[in-house]
Amino acid sequence: MHQFTVYGYCVYCVHMSARGHTWSRNVKKILTDYGLIRYWNENQPVPLDMAKTKICEQFQNDWEHHCATKPKLRTYILFKNDTNVATHIKCNMQKYERSLISQLRLGILPLRIETGRFSNLDVHDRKCLVCNSDEVEDEKHFLFDCNHYLQERDRMFQDIGVNFENLNVEERFKAIFEHPFKLGRYVKAAMYKRRQQLYNAN
Ligand SMILES: [Zn+2]
Repeated sequence: MHQFTVYGYCVYCVHMSARGHTWSRNVKKILTDYGLIRYWNENQPVPLDMAKTKICEQFQNDWEHHCATKPKLRTYILFKNDTNVATHIKCNMQKYERSLISQLRLGILPLRIETGRFSNLDVHDRKCLVCNSDEVEDEKHFLFDCNHYLQERDRMFQDIGVNFENLNVEERFKAIFEHPFKLGRYVKAAMYKRRQQLYNAN
């Protein structure tokens, strides 16, 4: 039997979609997919670090391709270029604020860019109804441009301690997502203010 590592076996288990084939055939396919087939051909064990690197690379490529094909991830791909766990997931922050940040990242925060989809509104017509600036209410507008949240935004920028005037949009997104507590407080306050303005309700 070909020598193989425990890590390799774990990889095999993850790829059980190829059921119905023999164990060795599946292992051979996995090694081929990850560019490690020479270890099979030479009857050598796969080095753990090498296997891990190849799998991570493949996952990163698949992930980038997935993001590029999903319109909802328009904001996400602006600041996220790796597959590490997001900072706000690891923080001990309020559940509601964490949820808001997750929604923001995934493009499902109920701004008009998202809710306009429900009524088949053209993207360019999903204008902000809070400030009447005639701009589309997307994540960028909500976070950096809408004048309805000036106070909240100034506070967030001051708390973060970065001069946002000197940053481009991508840098701004990266900066705020590195401060989940401050961002969470902003999103929570701004969404509350938004609801009050649009629906006069808490
Ligand atoms: Zn606005």
